[in-house]
Amino acid sequence: MNSSPPLSGAAVYADVIVARPARGLDRPFTYRVPPALQPHVVAGAVVEVPFRGGSLVGYVIDLHADAPSSLAEDAIRDVLQVRSPREFWGEDLLGAAGWMQYYYGCLMVEALNAIIPEPVRAGLWRKRPARGAPARTRVVALTDNGPDPEPLLRALDGDGPQARRVLDALRRHGHLPASELLNLAHARTETIHHLRDAGLVKYRMVAPDQLSAWHDPLKGTSALGSTERPDLTPAQREAVDRILALRAQGKAAAVLLHGVTGSGKTEVYLRVLEAVTEAGGTAVVLVPEISLTPQAVHRYRTRLGEKVAVLHSGLTDAERHEQWWSLRRGGMAVALGARSCVFAPFDRPSVLVVDEEHDSSYKQDSSPRYHARQVAIRRALQGNGVVVLGSATPSLESYHWAREGRYHLLELGERVEGRPLPEVEIVDLRRFGRGRPVALGAVLRERMREALAAGGQVMLLMNRRGFSSYLMCTDCGHMERCPRCDISLTVHAAPECLRCHYCLFEKGHMAVCPGCTGVSLKYFGSGTQRVEEELLGAFPGISLARMDADTTRRPGDHLRLLEKFGRGEIQVLLGTQMIAKGHDFPGVTLVGVVLADTALNLPDFRAAERTFSLLVQVSGRAGRGARPGRVVVQTYNPDNPAVLLAARQDYKAFFDLELGHRRELSYPPFVHLVNVVFASEDEAAAQAAAHSLAAGILPEARALGAGWLGPAPCAIPRLHRKYRWHLTFKANKVQEIVPLIRKFLAAGIPAGVAVTIDADPMSML
Ligand code: ADP
Ligand code: ZN
Repeated sequence: MNSSPPLSGAAVYADVIVARPARGLDRPFTYRVPPALQPHVVAGAVVEVPFRGGSLVGYVIDLHADAPSSLAEDAIRDVLQVRSPREFWGEDLLGAAGWMQYYYGCLMVEALNAIIPEPVRAGLWRKRPARGAPARTRVVALTDNGPDPEPLLRALDGDGPQARRVLDALRRHGHLPASELLNLAHARTETIHHLRDAGLVKYRMVAPDQLSAWHDPLKGTSALGSTERPDLTPAQREAVDRILALRAQGKAAAVLLHGVTGSGKTEVYLRVLEAVTEAGGTAVVLVPEISLTPQAVHRYRTRLGEKVAVLHSGLTDAERHEQWWSLRRGGMAVALGARSCVFAPFDRPSVLVVDEEHDSSYKQDSSPRYHARQVAIRRALQGNGVVVLGSATPSLESYHWAREGRYHLLELGERVEGRPLPEVEIVDLRRFGRGRPVALGAVLRERMREALAAGGQVMLLMNRRGFSSYLMCTDCGHMERCPRCDISLTVHAAPECLRCHYCLFEKGHMAVCPGCTGVSLKYFGSGTQRVEEELLGAFPGISLARMDADTTRRPGDHLRLLEKFGRGEIQVLLGTQMIAKGHDFPGVTLVGVVLADTALNLPDFRAAERTFSLLVQVSGRAGRGARPGRVVVQTYNPDNPAVLLAARQDYKAFFDLELGHRRELSYPPFVHLVNVVFASEDEAAAQAAAHSLAAGILPEARALGAGWLGPAPCAIPRLHRKYRWHLTFKANKVQEIVPLIRKFLAAGIPAGVAVTIDADPMSML
C-alpha cells in the first residue's frame, strides 16, 4: 500500500496524458482522484478518465494537492478507474519520456507509448486490468468464403504482387500476426487493408496457445562457441576498473569505449555486468538487432545466468508481454535487446551499455524519432547510472564529446592475444574500363581461391540488394521510375520484377523502351543477386548463402543463416551491411568488399563516415581466430580518404580529417540538425507549408544564432505519391528550435499536409 497515504478526504489531482495522438491534445488534462482510488494512483499509473462524451485511457504523469487555478472546481471530473497496478513504470522512464517530447518534438503520448510495448498496452487497454495475464494477439486470417481475389489483384496493379504474396502466406501458414505477415510477404499495411475491405482477409484476436507462431529463433541453438571466462588483458582490466569506479561514485557518467575490432569489448561489458548484478543492480544492454545472434545471446546467458531477458524481434506478443512483466517485477537483472530495449522497465538501471554505438539502427525512423544512445544517456542522467558506449568506429559525435571531456574515453588499442589486424588490399576498379563490369575482379577471385583451398571461410560485402540498380534505355535515356516515388525502380531476379525500394510498387520486366519503343534497355549497377549469379559461375559447387533484406524476411531468418555460417555449413556468406556488424566467426580468413563506393556518393554529410565505418567493421570480421585475415576492397575511388584510412584502420586520422570538414561546413557535432519535412499529394501545399514555417519562425531562429537550409524539395522529392519539401535548421541547441517549431505547428497545419520533425536526423533523403 501507499507508504504515505493522503489525508482522508483531502483532494488529490492527477495530470493525465490521454491516449489519443493529436497535436491539439498534446498537454496534460487534470482530473480529481476519488479517495477510494488514491492509494493506487501514482505518477506512472494508467487510468481511465472521462473525456468529452466518452472515456479514454490515459497516463498519469503528475499528482498535486491543489486544483489548477485556471479551472473551476466543478469543471474537474473524476478518474473513473485504475488500469495498471501501482508504479507501473519508474521515474527515470517518465523523465525520459518528457525529455523525448521536448527534444524530438513528438507528442507526449507517442513518447509514453514507446516506453510500453504494444502487447503490454493491449492488456491495459482492455476493460479489466490484466496483471501479468498473457495478452491476446491480433492476427490476420483468410475469410472463410471470400470472393474471387483476381479482380482485386488486377485492380491493385503495382500492389497486386504484394497482395498475392499476402494471400499465399496466409494459405501456407494460417493466421499470422500482422507484422510478421508484412515481413514475410514483403508487403505494406495498406495492402492488407485493401484485402480486408474486399472481404478477403480479416483481423482476429487469438490467445497465445492458438498462435501458429514462429518458433523462438534463439531456442535450442548449437555451435555456440567459447563461453569461458578468459583472463583480462591489461587494457581490458583497466577499462573494467574505471567503469566500476565510476559506478561506485553513484553519479551519472558516460564512458566511450573505443576498441579496435576483436579487442574484447564484449568481455569488458560482461565483467562490468557481473559485478553490477552481483551487487544487486540492474543493467540494460543494447546491440543492433542483427547482432542478437544465438552466439552473442548464449555468451551473455552462460556468463550471467538466467537473469538475462532477451528482447528480440522474433518474440511473439505473448512472450514480449511475459518478458516485460518479469523485468518489471524484478525477476531479471539484465535486459538485452535492440533499440527499444532502452526502455526496459527497470527503475534506475545501474549500467546501460550501447554496443556498436555508431550504428544507425539506434535511430527510430517514425515518431518518436529517438536515438537509443541519447535516451540511454538521458536515463543515466535521471537515475545516476553509468552509460558505456562501445565501438571500433565511434560516431563523430561521440568521439568528439569524449575528446571534449563530456564522456570518459577508454581505449583498447590492440586485438586480444596479440592477433594482427587484417592486411587490406585496395583494387582499383577504374582500370577495368567501360565494359560490362564484373563483380569479382581477378585479385578477389584469387584470394577467394586461396582462402577456400586452405579451409577458410569468406565474407563478401555488397551493400546493395537486388540484381541491378536500374534499367535505362541507352538510345533515349529513359529510366523506369516508380510512378509514386521519384526514384528509379530496382531490377530484381527471382522473382523477376522491377521494384521500388521505398513503397514496394512492383511491375514486370520489359523488353521495349516505353520512351522510344527501342530495344536498347540495359541494366546498370549491380546488386547482391548479380554477385550471387557470378559467384556460382566462378566457383561451381561452393556452399554460398546470400543475406539481404530479400532473403531474411521472416523473423529469425538472419539468425538461422548466421548460425549455419558459424557451424561452417556455409563457405561463403554474401550480404549487405547486415553481415558487417559485430559478428565473431573465427573461421573467416577473407573479407571481400565487392564495391566500396555504394554509400560514398549519397547526398548526405555522413557519406564518408558511413563508408569508413562500414569498411572498418567488415574488415574486422577477418582474422578473429588463430589464422590471420585478409581483406580485398574493390573501389572506383581508391584515393578517397575514407577508403584509404579504412584500409589502414586509422580511426583517429579519419576522425581529425572529417571533423575538420564538419567544422568548416557547420555540421554535427558542431551544430544540431533539426529537419522538418512537409508531405502532401498537392505539391503546392507542401511547398507553401514549408515556406510558412520559414516565414513564421526564421526571425526567432536567427535571433538564437541558428542557421538553416531550404525550404527546398527533399532529395527524394516524391514518396508514396506525396510531394516532399523540407526545411533544415542548424542549431546550437535542439531544445531551442524544437519548441518554436512545435508552437508554430500547434497553431494549425493545412489540411492534407503531413509534417514530421526529426531532431538529429540520421538520414535526410
Ligand atoms: P570486440 O567486441 O571488441 O570485437 P570480442 O569481445 O568479441 O571483441 O572479443 C573477440 C574474441 O576474443 C572473442 O572470441 C572473445 O571470446 C575473445 N576474447 C576476449 N577477451 C579475451 C581475453 N582477455 N583473452 C582471450 N580471448 C579473449
Ligand atoms: Zn515507390
